This record gives sequence, C-alpha cells and structure tokens, in this order.
Amino acid sequence: MKFQPTASHFIDGAYVEDTAGTPIDVIYPATGEVIARLHSATPQIIEQALTSAKRAQKAWAAMTGTERGRVLRRAADIMRERNRELSILETHDTGKPLQETLVADATSGADALEYFGGLAGSLTGEHIPLGGGDFVYTIREALGVCVGIGAWNYPTQIACWKGAPALACGNAMVFKPSETTPLSALKVAEILIEAGAPKGIYNVVQGYGDVGAALVTDPRVAKVSLTGSVPTGRKVYAAAAEGMKHVTMELGGKSPLIVFDDADIENAVSGAILGNFYSSGQVCSNGTRVFVQKGIKEAFLTRLTERLAKVKIGDPMDEAVNFGPMVSEAQMNIVLGYIEKGKAEGARLVHGGARLDREGFYLEPTVFADVTDDMTIAREEIFGPVMSVLDFETEDEVMARANATEFGLAAGVFTNDLTRAHRVVAGFEAGTCYINTYNLAPVEAPFGGSKMSGVGRENSKLAINHFSEMKTVYVSMNDVEAPY
Ligand code: NAD
Repeated sequence: MKFQPTASHFIDGAYVEDTAGTPIDVIYPATGEVIARLHSATPQIIEQALTSAKRAQKAWAAMTGTERGRVLRRAADIMRERNRELSILETHDTGKPLQETLVADATSGADALEYFGGLAGSLTGEHIPLGGGDFVYTIREALGVCVGIGAWNYPTQIACWKGAPALACGNAMVFKPSETTPLSALKVAEILIEAGAPKGIYNVVQGYGDVGAALVTDPRVAKVSLTGSVPTGRKVYAAAAEGMKHVTMELGGKSPLIVFDDADIENAVSGAILGNFYSSGQVCSNGTRVFVQKGIKEAFLTRLTERLAKVKIGDPMDEAVNFGPMVSEAQMNIVLGYIEKGKAEGARLVHGGARLDREGFYLEPTVFADVTDDMTIAREEIFGPVMSVLDFETEDEVMARANATEFGLAAGVFTNDLTRAHRVVAGFEAGTCYINTYNLAPVEAPFGGSKMSGVGRENSKLAINHFSEMKTVYVSMNDVEAPY
C-alpha cells in the first residue's frame, strides 16, 4: 500500500523499528488480507519513547503558546491537504468506508489541531486581589509527559483529540494506538514533525495492553488519557491511581435514544440510523437502545426498514458505499454472538442479522424490535451494527428505564414539544445529550461520559483543564505578622 508508515514506532522525530517485539499483523477488514506487519514495543522502545518525551517537554512548555499553536495549526493544514491519502490509510486500517473517512477522520483530527492551536496563545492563569494590597496569581502549567491510549474505531481522531490539547498546554505525549488499527497515529506524528514540532513532543509506540500498562505505571508519566472499554478503563484508572496521576477516561456506553409520538419520524429514523450504523455501529456514543412511543412504533419500524433497504454495503474504497465491514473477525464474531442472544431471548428480528457471504468481516445492519430491558442486547455494549427498539408509554416510565444502566455516555430525544425536550435532557444521566439529532461531536463542545462511561471531558475549552494544572502564588505587599 502506498503512503504506508515505514516502521512500527515514531520516536524523537523518526521512525524506529525493533523486530524483537511481538508481531502485530494489520489486517484489511474488507478482504482479510494482511497489509502490514508491525511489532509491539519492547522495553527498550518504551524507554526510548519516554526518555525522548521527557527530554523534549520542558523546552516545548517554555515556548510561547502562540508558537506552540502555530505548529498545531500548520499540522492541521497539512492534514487537510493530505485528507485523501490519510483517509485511504484510515480505511485500510479500520475498514470504514472512504465516504466516511473522507469527512470524519483526518478532518476531525485537523479540527482538533486547529482549535487547540488557536487556544494555545490564550492559556493563562489569573490575578486574584486580596486585602491590604496582597494578591494571588495563578500560573497554568503543563502536566509533563502524558500518555494517550486509543481504541480502534477512530484512530486518527483519537490520536488528535488527545494530542492536540496536550501539546497546546505544553505537554509531551506518548501515544499508543489500538493494536487493531496501528497505522494512522504514525502519520499524525510524522505530520507534527513536518509542521515544526520539536522531536520527542509526540511519540507513537505500538503494542497490546501490556505496553499500555507499562506506560501507565511509569513514574515519569503525569497523566493518562484512555479511549477504550469499561473493563480496560477500570484497570488503567486503578494503575494511574497508584501513582496519583491525572486521568481522562473515554469509555463505552449503551445509550438511550427516545422517540416521542410527536417527533418528526423521518428525522428520528435518520437519528437512529446515524446513532447505530455509522462506522458499522462501532461508535462509543451510539444510541443503541431506541425507545419508541407505542403509538408510532410500527410507523417508525416501517420507515426504518424501508430506509435500511437502501444501504449500500460493499468495497469501502468505492465512494458510493456507505456501510463497510467490522474492524476485525474477532469483533464480528462478538457481534454475531449478540445477534444469536437477541434471537434466543425472544427479540423480534426485523432487519438483517447475518454475516454477508463475501470475503471480509461484513455484517448486515441489524434491527431487533420488541426488545425488553432485561435482554442481554439491551444491557451490554455490543459495539456493532445492532439496534434494539423498545416500546414505551409514558415519559416518567421511559426516563426511569433510559437511566437504568451503569453507563452514561450519551442520550438523545426526538420530540417537537420544547419543554419536554429540555425536561428529558435535564433528567438524563449522561455526559453528552442530543435534542432532535444524534452523535455529532464538534471540537468546540465538551465530549465525554458520566457514571461508568468516563471521567473528564475531551474537546472544548474544558480539555485544557484536563491537560494543565494551576500553581498558586501568594504575593504579600505587607510586613509578615508572626504571633511571637
Ligand atoms: P479496549 O478497552 O479493548 O482497548 C483500548 C486500548 O487500551 C487499546 O489500545 C488496548 O491495547 C489498551 N489496553 C488494553 N488493556 C490495557 C491495560 N491493562 N493497560 C493499558 N492499556 C490497555 O477497547 P477497544 O476494543 O479498542 O475499543 C472499543 C471500546 O472503546 C468500546 O467499549 C467503546 O465504547 C470504547 N470507545 C469509547 C470512546 C469514547 O470516547 N467514550 C470512543 C471510542 C471507543
């Protein structure tokens, strides 16, 4: 494949290889073909990455915010110029259709670089006047070396959503992509160097969970930002707590999407499609529990299945295709297992439900109706194209049921009743909520979950607080009064 990274790791401004590491085969999900062989980081590679980041960080933090921001904004421009090549790489890495990667991956990564690049020059502390002329000023300081650990669904975006605010604040980052999709983050590192970032400010090392764990426990690391599942989040959070490190946890979900009978059905169906089948359903904030008010249930299902009949599944490189394969054979089998459970537990299969008879890891978009709250498919995160439609009668009932989950990543409501929309959103136990739309995540808005779905927020000005800390300086303008 053209444009492919030339080695496994990117450290101190250059590609680095160590073939002693466990092999990581990169598989193109549309064909099952091995397109690259990388190697997991050995202890020597981890050491090199952390040493280089530690060495580079102080000088980077000492530059002005405007200078740091200029590098990030240049990197954003380069990413946009190379959007097509980066999107092709992302499609090879993930199997997501080029139609999607062209508009949602390098572009959203570039948005983050541009946004945080723009903020970098305005990051300040504050002045706090006190009695008698005394005052306090605060200094916003970088945390130091930050570790980013990514999931496989949005490799470029995750590398930038973590890297951009970290670098804007003057930190260095060591980023470990998911072992399933290791390629794109290397390109982000390459582009940052090309944009003028000092060597070592953004290093990428490959590896499985053990490499992530080694990074998290290293005493040189001040902060860990993870995007992954709740079980991994629990382990990483606990390991970070040992060293009293800062954390951001972007974890899984089982989000509710409520459709009231006064909603615009066409829009609600669009929201449910976007919230379940984009990226073949491999989106953390998906609204996979679609609660539809009884009176419109059949009308909703009819329109949904009519619209799903038009999905174009196939070669992700064909820009007319809008539904690609699952990221891996393992993930496809997990999802097939859930589909079987849905059938066995009595849900009504109204669309899809099968693997496609072709090479690659393709599943049909799948819809179950008559799903009840106790069914496995309504309780567990599936992370694939499986929508559960549940009926409800009253607002109070649906709110209690929507919140009856350990997760709290996202939630959405479709209704034309203005006061109900805001009342429902106020009642949601979720970090990211939608009224009459679903799954948009602009960089200007905070993104993240409550309950088991996460700690902290990515994007927006809030991310700055998660990648910096305040030093308080008390200044006395008076004599010091001591009791004796
Ligand atoms: P995962 O939890 O299996 O892996 C995530 C990352 O953690 C990988 O890079 C993995 O190598 C690493 N890892 C595993 N064990 C580790 C350990 N002990 N210490 C350090 N690192 C370790 O998740 P996945 O299967 O790659 O991704 C899917 C999950 O990610 C889903 O649950 C999904 O909801 C979630 N996700 C959340 C968001 C969000 O923003 N909230 C976004 C995308 C995906």
